[in-house]
Amino acid sequence: MGLSKTIWAHPAEFLAHQQPENPVLFFSPGVLQAAARRFIDGFPGLVTYAVKSNPEEVVIENLAAAGVHGFDVASPAEIRMIRRLCPEAALHYNNPVRARSEIAVAVAHGVCSYSVDSHSELSKLIDLVPAAGTEITVRFKLPVQGAAYNFGAKFGATVELATELLARVAAAGFVPSITFHPGTQCTDPAAWEAYIRTAAQIARDAGVRIARLNVGGGFPSHRLSDVVPQIEATFALIGRVTAEAFGDARPALVCEPGRALVAESFSLAARVKAVRDDAHVFLNDGTYGNLDELPVIGIIDRVEVITPEGARRTGAPRPRIVFGPTCDSVDRLPGELPLPGDIAEDDYVLFHGLGAYSVATNTRFNGFGDVAIETVLSLH
Ligand SMILES: *Cc1c(COP(=O)(O)O)cnc(C)c1O
Repeated sequence: MGLSKTIWAHPAEFLAHQQPENPVLFFSPGVLQAAARRFIDGFPGLVTYAVKSNPEEVVIENLAAAGVHGFDVASPAEIRMIRRLCPEAALHYNNPVRARSEIAVAVAHGVCSYSVDSHSELSKLIDLVPAAGTEITVRFKLPVQGAAYNFGAKFGATVELATELLARVAAAGFVPSITFHPGTQCTDPAAWEAYIRTAAQIARDAGVRIARLNVGGGFPSHRLSDVVPQIEATFALIGRVTAEAFGDARPALVCEPGRALVAESFSLAARVKAVRDDAHVFLNDGTYGNLDELPVIGIIDRVEVITPEGARRTGAPRPRIVFGPTCDSVDRLPGELPLPGDIAEDDYVLFHGLGAYSVATNTRFNGFGDVAIETVLSLH
């Protein structure tokens, strides 16, 4: 057995040596740890990670190594995985609807915080979770603004209901807190402002001093070349508005980003199966695979095309309709993607910023969906 090289310099090196027939997600631990440090250094409170956005163990391990010690979990499987990888981590169970059997798993694994958005689910928690030292965060929603996707359609109490729930949480002896989720890929920092001011109003109306305000995830990743995320501006706004709105009753802050922590640390290489009659480009990955989110959130135009020899295509860009490999006609990327005019069969299209909601939601539909994860020193 020879020594095999397992960490590659960059994707093009791997592609030229291996010529993979299945999609490959390239992972840079350094980029992930830098994103974690950017949040830990910049966010004026506790940084936790929304596991659902990418639950790969290498992701959890690298975030923990970079100093992330809290995790937003939504299921017994996520709870067990985080306990196994990070025994000391704080678990925040922020899926507001849970079976009684799931609550029992959470209690057994020492979950320290639960979100809630209804009286019926709060009753279950009061029945099953010991109150002393356990936090319950009341999740509320406002009419949508500024997000790429409406998170309020499923979860979140109205302001009036949230006020009732918060008073009930405090009366039951739990640590009372508030949370919201402004949406996902919120490129305008103002998305947080109305939520924070309303949270302060809910606490005042309930007559409850809250311990913590969890401002959710929703921080944007870099998807369009020309739209660079304003993460630090968002941190500054959250700190300023919280101080203004709560005054002396300022709670500790928590955030639970998924996308903005993990997106930039993965790039996806999808192989060109065909350029059909010099028009449509067919890739070996698509909307049932690692590009699942694009029809909902929009295209990623941070793309390079690499030849099988590892060279970058430099032809003048030409907008193309791009299809995935399955026989379903919705397996198409939204709009048209500008790709180098000299793109050819067997090339690789490298999409940057694809770490969130990619491998996590990849399906096996139509017999596709095999994907490898390869570690690289640099993604470019
Ligand atoms: C999905 C989710 C997140 C993470 O959202 P991003 O947009 O990926 O940052 C955070 N909190 C809750 C409750 C979620 O459901």
